[in-house]
Amino acid sequence: MDDHRKELLKNLPKIDEMMLLLERGERLAGVPRELVKEACRSVVEEIRGRILADKGKNGELCLPMEEEAADRAARIVEGFGAYRLRRVINATGVILHTNLGRAPLCREAIERIIEVARGYSNLEYNLEKGERGLRYDHVRELLCALSGAEDALVVNNNAAAVLLVLNALAEGREAIVSRGELIEIGGEFRIPEVMMKSGARLKEVGTTNRTRLADYEQAIGPETGLILKVHTSNFRIMGFTEAADLSSLVNLGKKHGLPVMDDLGSGCFIELDSYGLEREPTVRDTLATGVDVVTFSGDKLLGGPQAGIILGKRETLERIRKNPLNRALRIDKLTLAALEATLVKYLRPEEALSDIRVLRALTEPLADVKKRAKRLAAMLRRALPEGLNISIINGTSMAGGGSLPTREIPTVLVGVRATTLSAAALEERLRQWETPIIARVADEMVLFDPRTLDREEFTAIRDALRALLANEMG
Ligand SMILES: *Cc1c(COP(=O)(O)O)cnc(C)c1O
Repeated sequence: MDDHRKELLKNLPKIDEMMLLLERGERLAGVPRELVKEACRSVVEEIRGRILADKGKNGELCLPMEEEAADRAARIVEGFGAYRLRRVINATGVILHTNLGRAPLCREAIERIIEVARGYSNLEYNLEKGERGLRYDHVRELLCALSGAEDALVVNNNAAAVLLVLNALAEGREAIVSRGELIEIGGEFRIPEVMMKSGARLKEVGTTNRTRLADYEQAIGPETGLILKVHTSNFRIMGFTEAADLSSLVNLGKKHGLPVMDDLGSGCFIELDSYGLEREPTVRDTLATGVDVVTFSGDKLLGGPQAGIILGKRETLERIRKNPLNRALRIDKLTLAALEATLVKYLRPEEALSDIRVLRALTEPLADVKKRAKRLAAMLRRALPEGLNISIINGTSMAGGGSLPTREIPTVLVGVRATTLSAAALEERLRQWETPIIARVADEMVLFDPRTLDREEFTAIRDALRALLANEMG
């Protein structure tokens, strides 16, 4: 090691002196000493690392004074206090964007969360009887009324629901599934793997593209515990295909005394095909087949909080409720409050369609989207006549979240070109804005899809672009 670097290493800022400086100031008042010291240590380590790594041009290296090192440490500590989980503006047109938190909650759901979180609640307390109650009871009646199910249970998410049902109904036994339904949803959720973790044994039948009722029937034996149907939510096999429908599987289950489960994935209470969307059987249609149990997410087409909803026959649900995994996968009170409020919306489907944001986005008529695109374009033109080139372009939105994968949802986009910045640079700056704005880039333009934006977010986009381009120019 050369002398210059040895000299630098000997004179690194002293942690004790940094601590003295920080303790004299008000900046980190009240922050535990150990936490501040750790930050000081990491600053010194970082400087040491840079000295050791900097080969050849060490003549240019110099050490920060204690004041500067202490300031860096203070900034690290202050950084801990800055929220990292933040609200973002989704201009991508992907309505159920799993990376962006899927469904935004309706106003009432948010209000219920605040109300229930603020104090104590009757989460597991029966107010009439003055004794212990069940947390599921708050949504059970509502779910049954909306779906026609005999009984209902909710857990943390749909992956948990599938795991729990498989474990409760088929642990140590075989669960029969079509080869065409052995799907991966993303985020490590693969049917064969979840099946293994549940303790059920996978019994594959049929082929990737064709599975007949007879394939299921032939696979039934003394080891069989369950017949499982899985909604192939995020892909479609086209062409020469065949699948056994749920009703015939239900009959087959009855004949052999086996429960039948349908993992619906999205689960929807309102028919969406009249809005030009793909035909998805509603939860009520599915249960009307007599299926023993269905599972679906709370934050996909339902448009509520993350949750796994389990509906079905009373005796089947009783078995599932008593399973010890249920306790481990249980839903928390804030989610429950939001779920209840979201479900109440569905008592009046018109209200659900207008107040639940993912439903509104999915069903908004193209003419209305176009009107709003023009409004956004006009707002931007008015605010930034010099800095932007603005166009209106036809495009497509996507349902996302592994829902309605094949139907393209037509939309009208606002395309923005900045005179002083490339599209990639503009996209990056918007993404790193105070309230980050996530947009697509194509053809050297940043694209904003009004389908996933509301009025207040239009204003936020305008203000961000204005401030950002003003920084850029001066
Ligand atoms: C999305 C999905 C799941 C997982 O649901 P999460 O709520 O994300 O846990 C399971 N099965 C199917 C068919 C799905 O579409």
